[in-house]
Amino acid sequence: MATKRDYYEILGVSREASEAEIKKAYRRAARSHHPDANPGDHGAEDRFKELTEAYEVLSNPESRRAYDTYGHQVPRGAGATGYPGGEPFGGFEDIFEAFFGNRFGGGGSFFGASTAQRPSRGSDAEVEVEVSLREAAFGIDREVNVQVVRNCEVCDGVGGTESHVCPTCRGAGSVRTVRESILGQMVTTQTCSACGGRGRVIDAYCDNCRGSGRVSEVQTRRLRIPEGIETGMRLKVSGAGHAGDPGGPVGDLYVRVKVKEDPELLRDGEDLIHHMKVSFVEAALGAEVEVPTLEGTRPVRVESGTQPGATLTLRGEGMPRLRRRGRGDLKVVVDVMVPTRLTAEQRELLERFETVSGEETYNGGGGSFFDRLRGVFR
Ligand SMILES: [Zn+2]
Ligand SMILES: [Zn+2]
Repeated sequence: MATKRDYYEILGVSREASEAEIKKAYRRAARSHHPDANPGDHGAEDRFKELTEAYEVLSNPESRRAYDTYGHQVPRGAGATGYPGGEPFGGFEDIFEAFFGNRFGGGGSFFGASTAQRPSRGSDAEVEVEVSLREAAFGIDREVNVQVVRNCEVCDGVGGTESHVCPTCRGAGSVRTVRESILGQMVTTQTCSACGGRGRVIDAYCDNCRGSGRVSEVQTRRLRIPEGIETGMRLKVSGAGHAGDPGGPVGDLYVRVKVKEDPELLRDGEDLIHHMKVSFVEAALGAEVEVPTLEGTRPVRVESGTQPGATLTLRGEGMPRLRRRGRGDLKVVVDVMVPTRLTAEQRELLERFETVSGEETYNGGGGSFFDRLRGVFR
């Protein structure tokens, strides 16, 4: 490796520069030298790495003092990077994100596997909850039981009650490899294999979690099923999923909703359909019948001469709209029942009815049987 340049020189600040001046200088220089802002320019990568290294050292008062005293020849063993207190940040990517956010698309191309440094997020949990149509219509508070993995509280997710800092990664949980290649210096970061990324080596395993650092438990969550919900919709409860690595974010819980079919009310989006059976006599004479609704039952008048398949619309008695005002309609479809078994007396009465009936008996409601036949054969 070539002789290292002076860190103050790299950042273009004086040796007396304040922390704020150092930060400002780094921010300005990092923007123009960031590899993603200079595609194909390998010199930019090197300048950026040099810059970041200089900033890492000078932004931390302890490591800056060590650098001021020893220069680049800091005694080994003083910390993970040779500076007391170790690295001020997790690495290049972290330091860059701390300044600029993740707006260079994660920097994955340049930084490689360095995401392994951050404790990973827990996975999402999913659970299904079944509700009745009426519960789906008006909403309901429900308790759901979720089996989740969380970090053991006895050992704080480490897996051991006694442990020491991993000598391989010096507690960082990851190791950085600097490799010279024809493209310049390549820095890759990998999870430390000696400690599995925990940063600590375990001497006495935790009994509570049998060394895994994780325990599984059933958690009861109370949540609101909103009115108007439909089968297949998912509710999200942030942070109620599985635990991630110690210090990492917890996953989310998704509650998949299933609305049970109702024996009387068929759902059609916002509308409801009820098939109402009436006898052919009721259809002919007219009748008052009870219709099931979401709220209970209500009387509905079937007019005399109601035809099979006729639909009565009860406005605003359908499903409430999800996150909107108003409700759909309840459509009552009339199914006319025709007798299948007649007594001698019933048969006689119907035969008498037939002898006194003619074409005019069926006029009205949709035309007579004979009219319809004529329509076909004309
Ligand atoms: Zn390690
Ligand atoms: Zn434990």
